[in-house]
Amino acid sequence: MLQIMLQKVVIVGAGPAGLLLAHYLLSRRKYHVEIYERRADLRLVNASQDRTFPISLQERGRKALREIPGLEEAIAAASVFCNGTKLHRKRGKARKFSRAAPILTIDRNRLVMILLQHLTQTYPAEQLIIKFDCACVQVDRKAKTVTMQPAQGEAFSLSYDRLVAADGAQSQIRDILVQNAGLQCEQNHVPDAYKSVFLSRLNPALGLELEPDKIHGWNGDNQTRMLMVPQPGDRLNGVLIFDAERNLNLSTKEEVLTFFQENFPLFGQLMSEEEAEDFLKRPVGRVLTIRCDRFHDGDSVLLIGDAAHAVSPSIGQGCNASLEDVRVFERLLEQHEDDWSLALPAFTQQRVPDAHALKELSDYSFPRTKALRIEFFLRLTLKKLLHRWFPQRVKPFVFDLLLDQDLSYSQVLSLSQDWINKVKRSAAGGSTKQSNSISRSKRNRTREKLNEV
Ligand SMILES: Cc1cc2nc3c(=O)[nH]c(=O)nc-3n(C[C@H](O)[C@H](O)[C@H](O)COP(=O)(O)OP(=O)(O)OC[C@H]3O[C@@H](n4cnc5c(N)ncnc54)[C@H](O)[C@@H]3O)c2cc1C
Repeated sequence: MLQIMLQKVVIVGAGPAGLLLAHYLLSRRKYHVEIYERRADLRLVNASQDRTFPISLQERGRKALREIPGLEEAIAAASVFCNGTKLHRKRGKARKFSRAAPILTIDRNRLVMILLQHLTQTYPAEQLIIKFDCACVQVDRKAKTVTMQPAQGEAFSLSYDRLVAADGAQSQIRDILVQNAGLQCEQNHVPDAYKSVFLSRLNPALGLELEPDKIHGWNGDNQTRMLMVPQPGDRLNGVLIFDAERNLNLSTKEEVLTFFQENFPLFGQLMSEEEAEDFLKRPVGRVLTIRCDRFHDGDSVLLIGDAAHAVSPSIGQGCNASLEDVRVFERLLEQHEDDWSLALPAFTQQRVPDAHALKELSDYSFPRTKALRIEFFLRLTLKKLLHRWFPQRVKPFVFDLLLDQDLSYSQVLSLSQDWINKVKRSAAGGSTKQSNSISRSKRNRTREKLNEV
């Protein structure tokens, strides 16, 4: 009886954006939500660590979590708070960059698991259905049906009143809208590839202990760098980032250990033989960036999170922006009394400029040349000091604007345009890789070869 009066929303993708949107929609008590996720249920399988990495969340993302009672607290309890970054190097003391407001860091799969547990504990099956191992393969926009392909068994179709593409950077629904609905979408691979790394923060035999409340970084040679984030239980999870065109040439665990000991000696000392062996087997990840001209189709399809605007993780904003999307959309539903024919175009109008600004910031805040990188750290330190002394006259540098101020991405871009232009010019001089759009056929071939993020 209750179900008849509710609008049926099908959400494709149980990542941070899809799950948080389900929380928001269900709390409005006007929707019946069905979520379909291609991967297995993280609560039931012993999830492989291959496809996870630490995510840092600051006020932008946390604000969106906070509006669901108990959610931010549950996520914070499983997180580690970092009050700065320590940049280690071969010679000289490590550089420290402190943060006034601590950053919450959490493993991506753990974040998803908490969002999921909270959702299923709060809402009964009459309001919420979640199916795993089930990929969306087709959409019929006129009939308002989607076709799902389970990992085992026959494909099946289901109807929807509203459809949400929360299926990440490789979104199938977005691809269908590009083919059939004139959605304009530019897709690029960032020049970097990455592999997850899992270490202990401690090596008692060597008397080594990395600080538990700092993100630990290291810039190596040849565009290689590491970013390691403390996790509960003395773990240190992170990534090795390297030029995608470079072959690391590592085929034995001994070679892996030597590679880390030579290039990132501190992290090399924390790497066990088991981790060296696992590292070899882990897939190389590539990051696809997405720039769309709209985030909706008609009065019934919404694109959200990475499906709408995936960006490079260089400034740690993708998830923050995806969670913020949900909050913005819910505000619009409230404003338009759940009339999606008004809320959807309003979402595009409000969010597309911010998403385009975020892409620009993610592509060009952090420089790739050594000389500009030195300038970057000088500006970071200097602007922090000058802003403290002359807060009205000197604005903080781009990272501090992003992390500490309540500004939209468009506002941050506008205040940082000089620096972004400088980095962009240096990137254009050094390489054209960053602006290489990927054609559909090439992208499909690439997708077959690479492991999806
Ligand atoms: C190395 C790395 C580090 C990062 N660090 C940060 C950080 O510090 N801070 C930050 O804010 N962001 C960070 N990000 C970005 C962040 O991970 C993403 O922006 C965020 O996960 C986006 O959430 P989402 O729900 O939109 O998409 P996703 O997390 O990609 O979830 C999409 C879901 O949809 C499912 N799916 C895909 N296709 C289908 C289909 N056809 N049918 C059904 N299901 C489907 C997928 O299996 C997946 O579970 C990082 C990313 C990377 C790669």
